[in-house]
Amino acid sequence: MSYRGRSSKQYVQVSRDPFARFSIIRRNVPKSEVTLNETCAWCGNKRRSGGLFEFGVEHDDRPYRPDFDGQFFCSKSCRDTYYS
Ligand SMILES: [Zn+2]
Repeated sequence: MSYRGRSSKQYVQVSRDPFARFSIIRRNVPKSEVTLNETCAWCGNKRRSGGLFEFGVEHDDRPYRPDFDGQFFCSKSCRDTYYS
């Protein structure tokens, strides 16, 4: 598992489950952080920018301390498919 870029607190909420009391969050992994052979864990592509997204879960009782997946995806739909 990669811990690169974990110092960055820049992530956004992409969806929220009010009953489970957590949010899905996403951080931008810029092209400069993505190595040549790192691609979307599901479809094997990259974003048009050359970067990827790392998604994670932020629990309501632990704000600002999200658990990142440790996997990169090009889109939320790829992550949803990967984990479904
Ligand atoms: Zn993908």
